Amino acid sequence: MDSTAKSDAWRADRDHFLHPYTDFTTFQDSGSQVVSHGDAMYIVDEAGRSYLDGIAGLWCVNLGHGRSEIAQAMGDQAQQLGYFNTFGHSTNTPAALLARQLAERTPGDLNHVFFTTGGSTANDTAIRLAHYYFNRLGKPKKKKILARNGGYHGSTYFAAALTGIHGIHYGFDRIAEDIVHHLSAANCYRRPEGMDEAQFCDFLIDEARHRIEQLGADNIAAFIAEPVMGAGGVLVAPEGYHRRMAEVCQQNDILYIADEVVTGFGRLGHWFASEDRFGHVPDILITAKGLSSGYCPIGAAVFSERMYEVISKPQGPGGVLSHGFTYSGHPVSCAAALKSIELYEREDIFGKVRDTGPYLQQQLKRLSRHDVVGDIRGDHLMAGVELVSDRDAKRNFPPDLAAAEVVFGRARDYGVIVRPVGDTIILSPPLIISREQVDTLVDSLDQAIEDVSGQLMSRAAA
Ligand code: PMP
Repeated sequence: MDSTAKSDAWRADRDHFLHPYTDFTTFQDSGSQVVSHGDAMYIVDEAGRSYLDGIAGLWCVNLGHGRSEIAQAMGDQAQQLGYFNTFGHSTNTPAALLARQLAERTPGDLNHVFFTTGGSTANDTAIRLAHYYFNRLGKPKKKKILARNGGYHGSTYFAAALTGIHGIHYGFDRIAEDIVHHLSAANCYRRPEGMDEAQFCDFLIDEARHRIEQLGADNIAAFIAEPVMGAGGVLVAPEGYHRRMAEVCQQNDILYIADEVVTGFGRLGHWFASEDRFGHVPDILITAKGLSSGYCPIGAAVFSERMYEVISKPQGPGGVLSHGFTYSGHPVSCAAALKSIELYEREDIFGKVRDTGPYLQQQLKRLSRHDVVGDIRGDHLMAGVELVSDRDAKRNFPPDLAAAEVVFGRARDYGVIVRPVGDTIILSPPLIISREQVDTLVDSLDQAIEDVSGQLMSRAAA
């Protein structure tokens, strides 16, 4: 590629921007697509090409791009107070009001909000405070964390340790292997041969019980799970799984941490999925992404009254709860979140998702006409299409073929952005998507798969 024809931003990016989750073997030649603006369901690159955003930026721009009301709220807040810390007894109006709004919308007695800069720092916060909670209760042995294979919880060192996606750890050191223990993924597509979904659910619950027995409930602080696994390939657990896991946790005095970074703020048609979709109230709820519709970095860990009572007891010699980030409760981020909440409500966005979500899932079924499509799954506006080279054996493509990446490239030629993760193509569009735009998304993906499947199959057979 002739880099002289590229913009200054393109060159600066290639030469200096160390990108997250990027393959640098191809990066030097191909560089990045410079996205210059966004409007509702569309993004536009600097060459003026427009794309239907099938992934809401990265599961986050739930209200769509170019929302002037959010921009206005952020600008107004930056002018009034751009930043001041929230340590100790200092606060700002948007942070205080947002904490109350979150407490009102999170389930049960999850009433106490710790603000962070994103999902990873919220998960780290949850674990630190879970340990702190048990320390203060006089149960300092309760340190271990149950997580799940396929779970994604972030990229700070501990959030990465919680993450159960194998490839992500490649070349890195693992930490806390004595603390974090991974259970099986609730992967219905790849469940053991001969089990129906109900039996698979029993199998997963039994596995958790056995692991707890093995490790000792007295040594376990928490279980962390996404209501629907996201980056692990959009895996929907069998019916009753989360409710039953919550019971197991309760029986063993293990805190249930629901990582709702993706599923919160309407992606599954409700404020949060834990209670409204899956019928249980966690002890800690993690949110980020859709909280500000992606307009500003922000996350939160929301704690129950029971935990708050212990955490807020008079402190020992340290004097204070020594945990926090410079940008905890950043006023501009909180203003973006408050405006987002107002828009979610005013436009009945989640009501729309309860219509377009099932419609997307139903339309995607059409893709089963392709031999390379092994599984189509999801919940509302969160979907995964898993590619296989052999349907009966459920065998994925050799990794060097990067099958989902090939489909992604072809879909982009048709003007839609999807997300390849392993051999799964992920869809998580802004929640404002219309039925017509769902049709465009699915038609383009269908055509892209049609175009490349022959070539993929013959390369896999070679
Ligand atoms: N948890 C889940 C379920 C996520 O999907 C992500 C990010 N995709 C994170 C945590 C980490 O969030 P962040 O990238 O904002 O740190």
